[in-house]
Amino acid sequence: MKIYNTLTRKKEEFVPIEEGKVSMYVCGPTVYNYIHIGNARPMIVFDTVRRYFEYKGYDVRYVSNFTDVDDKIIKEANEEGVSAQEIAEKYIAECQKDMQGMNVKPATVHPRATQEIDGMIDMISTLIEKGHAYNADGTVYFRTRSFPEYGKLSKKNIDDLEAGHRSIKVTGEEGKEDPLDFVLWKPKKEGEPFWPSPWGDGRPGWHIECSVMSKKYLGETIDIHAGGEDLIFPHHENEIAQSESCSGKPFAHYWMHNAFLNINGIKMSKSLGNFLTVRGISEHYDLQVLRLFMLSAHYRSPLNYNAELMQASAAGLERIRTAYGRLEEMNPAGMPADLQDGEQEKLDGIRAHIAKFENAMEDDFNTASALSAIFELIKDANINVQSTSSAKLRDAYIKAIDSLCSVMGIIPLKKEEMLDDEIAALIEERNAARKAKNFARADEIRDTLAAKGITLKDTREGTKWSRT
Ligand code: AMP
Ligand code: ZN
Repeated sequence: MKIYNTLTRKKEEFVPIEEGKVSMYVCGPTVYNYIHIGNARPMIVFDTVRRYFEYKGYDVRYVSNFTDVDDKIIKEANEEGVSAQEIAEKYIAECQKDMQGMNVKPATVHPRATQEIDGMIDMISTLIEKGHAYNADGTVYFRTRSFPEYGKLSKKNIDDLEAGHRSIKVTGEEGKEDPLDFVLWKPKKEGEPFWPSPWGDGRPGWHIECSVMSKKYLGETIDIHAGGEDLIFPHHENEIAQSESCSGKPFAHYWMHNAFLNINGIKMSKSLGNFLTVRGISEHYDLQVLRLFMLSAHYRSPLNYNAELMQASAAGLERIRTAYGRLEEMNPAGMPADLQDGEQEKLDGIRAHIAKFENAMEDDFNTASALSAIFELIKDANINVQSTSSAKLRDAYIKAIDSLCSVMGIIPLKKEEMLDDEIAALIEERNAARKAKNFARADEIRDTLAAKGITLKDTREGTKWSRT
């Protein structure tokens, strides 16, 4: 299996640290809002990587954090007049709902930064003892030049970086020995969450979180560390500097980075207003469509979101489900049990599609090509399986579609349709809950219906619903 390693800028053969096992850390979202479809890209891509390793028989330990203390969370909390913890709790729960909708498997562990403060204090103390960090009046900085390999991931030269920094003086950072140094611990500010530490009350910097959580849940050296390409510098570069200075060992053998998702050719950002949340998308599409769309491009290619591409993915999903549904509805008891004339070649054809799928995935997870193998398999199933075919052939197609779709996280079954009566009963229950000011239950009902493709609209004449 070949993986493109950002560290070497080459496709390399994957050799696990321990035979049959994979340890993976994927940088997770900062939880101050609903996740956007850009955040969904690494979730779907690396979930698919994990699923392929599992398909190959590896035992995968997959860790992905929630950054639940951060300036953006504190700002949102102040705006809403609630605590930072409440904001984080709320959006972690919402993110988990979206992940479920996208059929992203829960990680083996989802650590939260605020629950790992002790580990961060330990690592920062070790870095100070070893001369890699220093305390300047309650702010602890990493001494970047103490790590000679700094820049090895992002291919940045430390002297160029220094030159770029020289003119920039930031107030509040007077204690820094060198503009390149970055924060490991910052002192508390009024109205912000804080924890006690040997350097005074304060909170950790962002980079140290991942170094600590990766070490705690996966060990000092891991197989794969992943995230979006914007994290290469400074986040991942800084993680390497911290972790390797602390342990003296390589931090991660393979570094994987997904390219960015744009909207209609423009970078997605909050300030431009072209910001789409997964939740918003779920009101218009089955999230399986979003998943298929994300996997229709190679993860290292930029991907452009637009309505036509989503329509194409919706049509693709429908093709898979219709073909699979037809096979499922056949009654194997009424079909010949043994292989019929010419069917051996068809079985060989299935094997060839599986081989094409695997070759694509072995080549740095080329999901676009892997999906085309699935579509060829579907096409063959439509042509080759008829009521006169053997049950063996039908079963072989079902098994192959199931197994390849499952690597992609695609569910080939049609969503079970809700009956109108069931919908009406739930709407009635929601109205009663709203009257009783039980908004949590009312929202839950709306979400349940949304997950089944039912959108609600509250109008003067009452609640109207439609199928999406
Ligand atoms: P954040 O919450 O900004 O730390 O982002 C969480 C993850 O989403 C990181 O791996 C980011 O690199 C990734 N990410 C953010 N925006 C995009 C985007 N537009 N396209 C692809 N990945 C993104
Ligand atoms: Zn990280």
